[in-house]
Amino acid sequence: MAEFAAHLNQGTANANPTIFEIVAQESMATVLRPAVSYGLKVLATSNPDRWGWLWRVGDELYVILDYIVQNHYLKNFGGSISEHFYGLKRVFNVENGESSGGISNYHRYLSLIMLVAVPYAKLKLDQLFERIREENVTGYLASYSSRKRSYFLQLKRVFIYVYPWLHFTGETAILSYYLLYIFKFCNVHSPLLHVIGVSLQRLTRQDMLAHSMQNVNTGVFSGKTLTERISAIPRSLAHLLASVLANGLPVIVFFLKFIDWWYSSENKGAVQAVTQLPIPPPPPQPKPAQHGVKLPPHPAQCPLCKKVCTNPTALSSSGYVFCYPCIYKYLNQHGCCPVTHLPSASKQLVRLYVDDTN
Ligand SMILES: [Zn+2]
Repeated sequence: MAEFAAHLNQGTANANPTIFEIVAQESMATVLRPAVSYGLKVLATSNPDRWGWLWRVGDELYVILDYIVQNHYLKNFGGSISEHFYGLKRVFNVENGESSGGISNYHRYLSLIMLVAVPYAKLKLDQLFERIREENVTGYLASYSSRKRSYFLQLKRVFIYVYPWLHFTGETAILSYYLLYIFKFCNVHSPLLHVIGVSLQRLTRQDMLAHSMQNVNTGVFSGKTLTERISAIPRSLAHLLASVLANGLPVIVFFLKFIDWWYSSENKGAVQAVTQLPIPPPPPQPKPAQHGVKLPPHPAQCPLCKKVCTNPTALSSSGYVFCYPCIYKYLNQHGCCPVTHLPSASKQLVRLYVDDTN
């Protein structure tokens, strides 16, 4: 683990981590969510009828998973999963620069809010902003002013105006804290940590020794009586889950992404040049899902409204064609193709410029 290598460049008695260690642990923390979400997408695409729901509630599933893992690491190692991986721990921050050891339960709960709830809220706000912005660009927002109450519309307009400024302010605060930390004006590198009164320090040799002793003592086989062993099972499972997430998942996702890239349509040319294979046949028509919308008798009809398509638009995940207003509304509500139930988003819509009368 990186915690042992971290001591190679420690040298001095300074316990504060360098900006490189902080940036490395933060980039590891941001990689876990896309990794889990990508894994769920692969699962949902393989069998949309059975696993499609997993992808739709992926953000919420990740929050639960994240809570279990982060709580386990904060409780046992005094830092988040990525902080522990890079040999760092959280300490109660005292204003004069002296830091006491470890964090209290109160600071652990505050840390959990900052690690789990704040990123989830930010993700949901980003998604909301993207959706309203798209409605605004496509003219959908203006078109429903007659149907919905106008103050709701005003609220959405204010949100798409204010949100980028809030985002900008937040990013500027993060950058300012980095600079203050680099030039040693501040011993906390993040505004969120400053708010909850916590800073990061390197693990000491005593910490590592205590952690390895703890690992030995908390295993399922360490308890003397049967009840002790049974009570250790949830803790051991949380530890196992955390280890798999920290070590195995990024590797699995790397291979999944590589296979995906190898077979993706954009790289067909490159793959062919390497393998010298003949042009492959077109992909088979995706199978309609068991409980999906039934296909109309004529291909010019929209599967959703069963009328002749107005503004025919293809969904790139499945290849089926719908009216633009029908499919746009459906995707916003369900997040999947109505016919095949393959996970899909509105950015996968492709406008078809064909003669509508044919
Ligand atoms: Zn339609």
